[in-house]
Amino acid sequence: MDLKQAERLLQADRSYVWHPFTQMKDYAERDPILIEKAEGVFLYDAYGQRYYDTNSSWWVNVHGHAHPRIREAINRQLGQMDHVMFAGLTHSPGIELAEQLVKLTPPGLDRVFYSDNGSTSVEVALKMSFQYWQQSDRPDKTKFVYVDSSYHGDTLGAVSVGGTDQFFSVFRPLLFDAYSVPSPDPRLAPGGDAETAAQQALEAVRTLFEEKAGELAAIIIEPLLQAAGGMIMYAPSYLTRLRELCTAYNVHLIADEVAVGFGRTGRLFACEHAGITPDFMCLSKGLTAGVLPLAVTMTTSGVFDAFYDDYPKLKTFTHGHSFTGNPVSCAVALESLRIMEDEHVLERTVESAAFLKTQMTRFQSLDGPANVRSLGMVGAFDLFRSRDAGTRYSFDERIGFRVYLEGLKEGLFLRPLGDTIYYWLPLCTTRAHIEDIVDRTLRVLQAVR
Ligand SMILES: *Cc1c(COP(=O)(O)O)cnc(C)c1O
Repeated sequence: MDLKQAERLLQADRSYVWHPFTQMKDYAERDPILIEKAEGVFLYDAYGQRYYDTNSSWWVNVHGHAHPRIREAINRQLGQMDHVMFAGLTHSPGIELAEQLVKLTPPGLDRVFYSDNGSTSVEVALKMSFQYWQQSDRPDKTKFVYVDSSYHGDTLGAVSVGGTDQFFSVFRPLLFDAYSVPSPDPRLAPGGDAETAAQQALEAVRTLFEEKAGELAAIIIEPLLQAAGGMIMYAPSYLTRLRELCTAYNVHLIADEVAVGFGRTGRLFACEHAGITPDFMCLSKGLTAGVLPLAVTMTTSGVFDAFYDDYPKLKTFTHGHSFTGNPVSCAVALESLRIMEDEHVLERTVESAAFLKTQMTRFQSLDGPANVRSLGMVGAFDLFRSRDAGTRYSFDERIGFRVYLEGLKEGLFLRPLGDTIYYWLPLCTTRAHIEDIVDRTLRVLQAVR
């Protein structure tokens, strides 16, 4: 792109666009990066500068950008049929994807309800669980439980069960009441012990269930990794025992795998690390390899059956969106699953993840990074002023933002969460790339000190 064209576009961006999760005033001093091309693990801006896409374009990308088979799948589907409605009509990509997802997800998740973004897949789970109890002679089971530091999306229902208050406190009057339980965050236990933290957190769940199960519809969790809350990685035993508690107390378990699904943790689904089947599973982000919007809420035959009745009984699940089951998105999701298999993506991810884990230890040689951790293709640490002295940066210092700016100079597109610096790498990131990313990040950390 010539420079004049780039300048004109950025000027128009400033005049007409409102970006998500962005204090637009930040752009008064510094434009967003005008990306012209994305290929593999790289983004290229209009000025020819190359950046590693270290957060997989907001946690969605799976096989790298511009995968030829994905492009091919889009063209093939568009040649056949663009979009048609999904009530009264059905189509092969929607049917086949549902069939595949039922096969691949933990046993017992037998039904697939389509929507088009992660927040909405959560809304659907909440509404289904609520309506299930209404139609199962348990009308008192109306309340939800969420875990501190969790994030389930931006729509009001999803925010009501979110535990990252700092983002959303302004909306408090619009939200419904829900119960919260502590996070199994290992940092909350003495010595940072993950098992102890899980145990503590489960005790609180047990106490709440003992007292209130009669009014509880469901508990919603992010399996194994609380992502937006600060890349908190916790013990799989939490999931195993939480599943037992939910069964014992007759409370639905909603697993929000919107972020972690499709291989990011080294297994196709994070629930597999604990061998559990939730009552609802929400999937989006990686579902279409991070290329087109699509989401699903999966559930059990038991839940489905409570809605299945003669029309006049009014048990229909009355929810749906214009773009429900978009055929192009479904075709891409199917192709992504085929790529997973044909290219042995999970096997390779396990190897890359092991390499990432060893590379992450390099950060321990500096005094800033604390709680260095990784799970699958996600690596993170909390940036302290001094880890050894236990001193943190103040909010005003915007250390995360400074890391972002220095990262750009090093050809890294990093987007820290507060003081938590993290990678959320495409599954195709090679060893050489991982090592290079860590080298560059170490230089970034030297520069911001
Ligand atoms: C991103 C995310 C969502 C929301 O998905 P959107 O597509 O952004 O609406 C929900 N849950 C989790 C765990 C997420 O990370």
